[in-house]
Amino acid sequence: MKLFAENILLSDGWHQNQTLTIDNGIITDIHSGKDDDATVLSGPVIPGMINCHSHAFQRGFAGFSEQGSETNDSFWTWRKIMYQFVDNISVEQAQVIASQLYIEMLKAGYTRVAEFHYLHHDKDGSNHPELSAMAKAIFAASKSTGIGLTMLPVMYRFSGFGPLPAVAGQKRFINSIEQFNQLVSDCFEITQHQENCNVGIAPHSLRAVDKESLVAAVNHVRGLDDKAPIHIHIAEQQKEVNDCIAHYNKRPVQWLLDNMPLDQHWCLIHATHIDEQEVDGIIASSAIAGICPTTEANLGDGIFPTTEFMAKGGQVAIGSDSHISVSAIEEIRLLEYAQRLIKQQRAILANNKTRSVGQNLWQHAAKAGALSTSCNSGELAIGKQADLLVLNSEQTRLFANQNKNLLDSFIFASQQNPINDVMVNGQWQIQNGEHKLQQLSADAFAKALRDIAGNCA
Ligand SMILES: [Zn+2]
Repeated sequence: MKLFAENILLSDGWHQNQTLTIDNGIITDIHSGKDDDATVLSGPVIPGMINCHSHAFQRGFAGFSEQGSETNDSFWTWRKIMYQFVDNISVEQAQVIASQLYIEMLKAGYTRVAEFHYLHHDKDGSNHPELSAMAKAIFAASKSTGIGLTMLPVMYRFSGFGPLPAVAGQKRFINSIEQFNQLVSDCFEITQHQENCNVGIAPHSLRAVDKESLVAAVNHVRGLDDKAPIHIHIAEQQKEVNDCIAHYNKRPVQWLLDNMPLDQHWCLIHATHIDEQEVDGIIASSAIAGICPTTEANLGDGIFPTTEFMAKGGQVAIGSDSHISVSAIEEIRLLEYAQRLIKQQRAILANNKTRSVGQNLWQHAAKAGALSTSCNSGELAIGKQADLLVLNSEQTRLFANQNKNLLDSFIFASQQNPINDVMVNGQWQIQNGEHKLQQLSADAFAKALRDIAGNCA
């Protein structure tokens, strides 16, 4: 297949009048000029974004926990509502919710998702006849919608440092070390029969796994694939940091740096509360920081020191986590705005090479996201996977259509979704803003939510 773009953001910046050849999902050639057999794309072309952190089922109760109460509302009260919802989801409903979410993600510019998947067991906590039944629902949602998938089965063993035994609300998450490693192996097997997906692991957090479990899980997955992504919730809440210091006498990121062989395929999700030594340690290890600005704002987590981290060469991927928002644009915008509000300055996350904040952050986050998921995308270049977005030229024309402002207008000034078409792995999944399954999916989603809400009441 050949595509012609009048304006395209390649690895080294904007280029005009380029023909791309795509073979088996891979960009095999890029050259100047228009080939006669190339399909003309309707607007500016940019790389697809990687969503480094998703709990798909949480899309089902987004907006259900925004009512004030007399007690102090916090992450920990939100988690109670989440556990109620979790108790009532079937395998089929999990697939329906994930499918709807993945269509929304594609429309919002995400071409791949890292699914931090911890809803493993049946409603009463017993094993499904097939250990990977819930994981299979996620794989099926990715396959039917066409979004790339990095499946990260979550190891969840305890309710807190100590270790403290799991509580009732966590019964669907818990696995022994052996059972967890079996689940990971089963997921690897599934990838043999499905395109554009890979597998890593996600030890839930230092409060939910002890050192023995963590070492066993890391050794197992890296034995299967030495580039397998490893993601962990690390320092989302101040309470979690304090509990870690009380137990290990170290802050969580510092403990991880001192005890585990971090590399560029480790992603530290919500590295929110870190000190300067931890900033330096993460960068020295090449690990990626996985930041979820809208969820972190929604849950009142705190603000990651993005300015200092990126200035020193640290890499930041973005995720939509609880899916209170499903928009790559909004995550990037808030990443920058949080820094402006703290520092009372403007246009912070640019650099000398790329003066445009929007362009710098889009390219940076896409590449960091690709590293964090060990996938061959995140930029448009020969040899990379054809994961790309075509922007609406009518809307971008409103922004004067100058390349130096284009992604800033896209990120900071769009009032409607400016993404027209989305290609994943060489195949169109969104065309003219529409996905072929969107109506079916929306109807099934609405029904699933009604049914689950009925059971929760
Ligand atoms: Zn999370």
